[in-house]
Amino acid sequence: MATDTLASSSHHCEIVLVQGTHDANGFPCGRPAGETCSDCGSELCDLHTEVCEFCNQAFCSMCMWLHLEKADAKPAQPVSRPERLKRRA
Ligand SMILES: [Zn+2]
Ligand SMILES: [Zn+2]
Ligand SMILES: [Zn+2]
Repeated sequence: MATDTLASSSHHCEIVLVQGTHDANGFPCGRPAGETCSDCGSELCDLHTEVCEFCNQAFCSMCMWLHLEKADAKPAQPVSRPERLKRRA
């Protein structure tokens, strides 16, 4: 039954869950998506959203890996946002 009006939009997580290393098919997560991967554009639910702590972009886990590898090889310009300026006296 398709009576879930909770997710009014048609955005659903596109992450495919795989049950085992030899399970080639897997099944889509399907949770309501709230983010979009900045790299591949996949819809991501909150469980599958990875946010880069450097540039604050949202990625799927796979693109996060690639993103971090790139960032490691080539230091991306730090969007120096002083987020951790909270000083505890
Ligand atoms: Zn992605
Ligand atoms: Zn998901
Ligand atoms: Zn980043």
